[in-house]
Amino acid sequence: MEALHLLKDLNLKSTSCRKEVLMIMLAKGHALSHSEIEKDVNPSIDRVTVYRTLKTFLDKGLIHKVLDDAGVTKYALCQGCRTDDHHHEHVHFKCSNCGQTICLDEIDIPPITLPAGFTSAEKNLLIQGVCDTCSAL
Ligand SMILES: [Zn+2]
Ligand SMILES: [Zn+2]
Ligand SMILES: [Zn+2]
Repeated sequence: MEALHLLKDLNLKSTSCRKEVLMIMLAKGHALSHSEIEKDVNPSIDRVTVYRTLKTFLDKGLIHKVLDDAGVTKYALCQGCRTDDHHHEHVHFKCSNCGQTICLDEIDIPPITLPAGFTSAEKNLLIQGVCDTCSAL
């Protein structure tokens, strides 16, 4: 099972919460908010455990944060990140039809030159429009 491999690769114990959260994210394939994840995990797993699991995954380079237009933080799986090398300079796309936020991993955020005195710590670029699935309908 892919979820178990991912946890093992990162030397993370496969707790039921970690397994479930990962399986949900793998199955959906788009960015999910904390409440969307929580809705799908086994009801015996509490909110705090889900929160801690997401924090661990963030630290380990398994998932990254995606800022949505509504100011909601969503989480998406990383592609090829590691604990010490966590880069997310790719574009995110929010579909106004289905409401899904998708990673466009292969599209980098273009370089931006900041005025003197400004240092960048993180870049986010969200494009809104209609996704490929919805366009094909
Ligand atoms: Zn990452
Ligand atoms: Zn769509
Ligand atoms: Zn992403």
